[in-house]
Amino acid sequence: MRRKHHKTDSKTVSESTVCTAQTYAVLSPVFTEFANSMALYILRHRRASIRGKSMSFRSIGVLAALFCAHSLNVSAAADTHIDESRIWIAQAHYQDVQAVREIAPYFTHMRVDRAQQTVTVETDALGIRHMREAGMQVEINLAATARMNVRDRALTTGNPDSIPNYACYQTVAETQASQDAFVASYPTLASVIDIGPSWARSQNSANGFRLRVLKITNQATDSATAKPKFFYMSGLHAREYAPVGVNLGLAHWLLDNYGIDADATWLVDHNEFHLLMQANPDGRIIAETGKYQRKNTDNISGICTGTQTSSHQLGVDLNRNFPFHWNTTAGQGSSGTKCNETFRGPTASSEPETQNIVTYLATIFPVHPPVVAGQAAPDDYAGMFLDMHSNAELVLWPWGDTPTHSPNDAAYVAFGRRMAYFNNYSPEQSDSLYPTDGASDDNAYGTFGVPAFTIELDGTGFFEDCTSFQNTTLPANLAALRYAARTLHAPYKLPQGPDALNVKVSASRVVIGSPITLSASIDDTRYNQSNGTQTIYAITAATATVDALPWEAAALPIAMNAVDGAFDSSSEAVNAVLDTSLLTPGKHLIYMQGSNSSGASGPPAATFLQVVAFDDNIFYDGFQ
Ligand SMILES: [Zn+2]
Repeated sequence: MRRKHHKTDSKTVSESTVCTAQTYAVLSPVFTEFANSMALYILRHRRASIRGKSMSFRSIGVLAALFCAHSLNVSAAADTHIDESRIWIAQAHYQDVQAVREIAPYFTHMRVDRAQQTVTVETDALGIRHMREAGMQVEINLAATARMNVRDRALTTGNPDSIPNYACYQTVAETQASQDAFVASYPTLASVIDIGPSWARSQNSANGFRLRVLKITNQATDSATAKPKFFYMSGLHAREYAPVGVNLGLAHWLLDNYGIDADATWLVDHNEFHLLMQANPDGRIIAETGKYQRKNTDNISGICTGTQTSSHQLGVDLNRNFPFHWNTTAGQGSSGTKCNETFRGPTASSEPETQNIVTYLATIFPVHPPVVAGQAAPDDYAGMFLDMHSNAELVLWPWGDTPTHSPNDAAYVAFGRRMAYFNNYSPEQSDSLYPTDGASDDNAYGTFGVPAFTIELDGTGFFEDCTSFQNTTLPANLAALRYAARTLHAPYKLPQGPDALNVKVSASRVVIGSPITLSASIDDTRYNQSNGTQTIYAITAATATVDALPWEAAALPIAMNAVDGAFDSSSEAVNAVLDTSLLTPGKHLIYMQGSNSSGASGPPAATFLQVVAFDDNIFYDGFQ
């Protein structure tokens, strides 16, 4: 079953107002710590502020009852007796979107529920104060905070070579070892490209890391014709564990299924995947110890003294440091304060990590200027840029620093809603509520014209627990990425056509000359319609091709029929009979593709067909 959007929010809010024995058991460690702090506070001040009203308490027992009955007003949490570095899940109601814009420079990945007019952040006491200064009534979601803390408590102990209690995620060292293992296992499909040093390595060759791209393509099919490139990075924000896990998951799917799964095979034959898994390794090794490090560790440009917390940390926010439209929103979309989470750096592209990425993109993407002047990138632009983050549950596209639509907006909306069908995140333009400047997706689109997206993963926490990651986030987003990969030939066009599902042959192995039946379901309905409405069209045609993608010169399209006799619906079962008398013995790829009444053809999907010269089954059957 697909998850309802923002189910997490409504669920946690309702739980936070009910105290059963079960939830008390979960909350009790948090409560004990919280109550101790509150006791100190009350002893000194004899007052505590609950839901904005000042009340006196005779005992902690009264507080305990209130703890169960209500979400506590944050003025208690923000009191100095409570650990300033402690992370809370805080929610605030806003009347005016201006308040959201006001706090945007302090946070990223705010979860905004437009219908309820709430904003939810994972932050510390300082972050909560910023929200209150913007006039917001802030409440702590104690149930969600407790669940997060139970998960995170074990981070302080354990094996230094992995992330304790988060066995599904890899450290920087483990990620590099995985990349090397891919190359060792698949030397003709995978290679590692060193794209330059991290900030720490640039300062001292004994420190830090090299940034490494895992490139996946079938080197045997390299030719003069350029293959579409899919650049996909993760870990730009160090504390976001899950995006790196999804990136590794895509590499596994492509490589482990090559020659086994027809789609994985043609995708690796016809495209290049450039996977920058750990884009901010210096920050990541801090985050691997359970700290909320988001930025890199540049303590010269981003010097920040004092206790390091989520809202007060050294370094530069790499996703505000990209050169295209750097610092364009007068401080609304990034911060000039060094300790802030969104500190943009002293100059555009000041950080080595940013420079490495910008330089590398220029080696793989052709430039199509000037998108910023309002001229659309050509709709047959091949390739795609993706930056994956967590945890706001969004599929985002440019622009991020202005609510004005880009000249390719219609194509972005269609493609974004197609991907969001799979992960059920909200599809929207990046600056639909508040701006960000100097971000990676605007830079890629604005500089090259390449289709550029940011996907924000599941909203349960920056350190998403492994059960949620493996059961929901990973499979849902791999499905979105497999879909995106099938559009790489023309991502501005193909998503506007219908998808090809259940692509099959009636027998996976045939003797030359035996006819077989090809079948598929051509479907135009798969859009996420949660944020606006995408028009769905009737299917008008379907074709099959053998060993050539439908847009290749060698393709000989075979018309497929509507099984019910007429192409008149947005979802059609289709079939065709394939004469195999002209096929050579061996393994063939059969592609199928549909078109709709808007005139758009969708991304193809494939299946294998094994053709043999004579039927040797008798030998297997008779002499095994
Ligand atoms: Zn991020």
